[in-house]
Amino acid sequence: RFASKEFRPEKSQVKVGDVVIGDNSFVMMAGPCTVESEEQLMTAARAVKAGGATVLRGGAFKPSTSPYSFQGMGEDGLKLLAQAREETGLPIITEVMHVGNIDLVCKYADILQIGTRNMQNYDLLIEVGKVKKPVMLKRGMSAKIEEWLQAAEYIIKGGNDAVMLCERGVRTSETYTRNTLDLSAVLAVRELSHLPVIIDPSQGTGRSSMVPAMCKAAAAVGADGVLVEVHPNPEKALKDGAQSITIPAFEKLMPELRAVVEAV
Ligand code: PEP
Repeated sequence: RFASKEFRPEKSQVKVGDVVIGDNSFVMMAGPCTVESEEQLMTAARAVKAGGATVLRGGAFKPSTSPYSFQGMGEDGLKLLAQAREETGLPIITEVMHVGNIDLVCKYADILQIGTRNMQNYDLLIEVGKVKKPVMLKRGMSAKIEEWLQAAEYIIKGGNDAVMLCERGVRTSETYTRNTLDLSAVLAVRELSHLPVIIDPSQGTGRSSMVPAMCKAAAAVGADGVLVEVHPNPEKALKDGAQSITIPAFEKLMPELRAVVEAV
């Protein structure tokens, strides 16, 4: 199997411009959960760039549990992301939800994100397997490690081996946190696969107060990076404000995180 360690014993690397995911550096992908406006995105993008992030995140097509919550700005959001890349130089990661939107999202994105709800959307996986852009595959919220790796297999089998995985918390009986962040997934993937693993502590906990410590824990456990939601004003966020950290919290986190990365 292409995703397995038997196929490739050494860790694979995913390259996006100058950014390498899967070497021994630790990648910070940060930005708003959802692109809401030019001002919100540009403020967040400038701040995360200044703080040391090397990839900008931001959702334009948003998978929402409720059909009544904000669904994202669509192509207008993608255009703002491209504008933020232009100004900051940060490559962009954004979600593609639908086979019919792959070409559109590819026009703007540097990394395609497959969300938790689509981990087993095999039609989508097959189609992103044909694309020449890196893909970050989030773990399904109830998926076993094996199912997650099989999902990655669909993409690689199609010809796209620039795949990284993202653990974003799984469903358990716990309700205090939004999900239960499974940091041991990093170790499990390391035992079974060569693919880089990113941790998403924002979706993983649903609580901004827990995000900085979980970023440091992700570095300590040997993850290849984190995906963090940062918002200039989380209280006013149209989506997922409770799990978004503020710009000052991000600025405080980065040197602490660097210290952990250097120590491991
Ligand atoms: C996201 O990162 O924007 C997102 C919707 O995450 P998930 O698919 O993990 O819920």
